[in-house]
Amino acid sequence: MTRPSLADITQRAEDATEGPWEADGRTVNQCVGQWAEVVSTEVSCGSYCYGGTGRGVESASDAEFIAHARTDVPALSAAIRDVLALHSPVYRPFPPICDRCRQAFPCDTYTAITAHIDTTPKENDRD
Ligand SMILES: [Zn+2]
Repeated sequence: MTRPSLADITQRAEDATEGPWEADGRTVNQCVGQWAEVVSTEVSCGSYCYGGTGRGVESASDAEFIAHARTDVPALSAAIRDVLALHSPVYRPFPPICDRCRQAFPCDTYTAITAHIDTTPKENDRD
């Protein structure tokens, strides 16, 4: 399997409907600015309301974004975890310093990541 391209991931995010989105059962809605359906479960009636066609994902760019999320998100998550593992604190001597870049902890790299993502582990995380 090839690695996802950061440029492609960025482009897909820029092309998709602006977020945040919210899942509501099997429907996904845009929750910022003007409310809009991103993924609809609404069925358009066929002739004489016999059968019908589900609308599904409302735009092709959102479908691309959703389809690639299954590989993009794990890849981005792994990259972030790997970088954070490199930039972990060493507590001796005190105050703590970054094991990688030797700056005071949190270092610039750790701060740049945590400015965008909460990296607090779940209660049951062993990492
Ligand atoms: Zn560092």
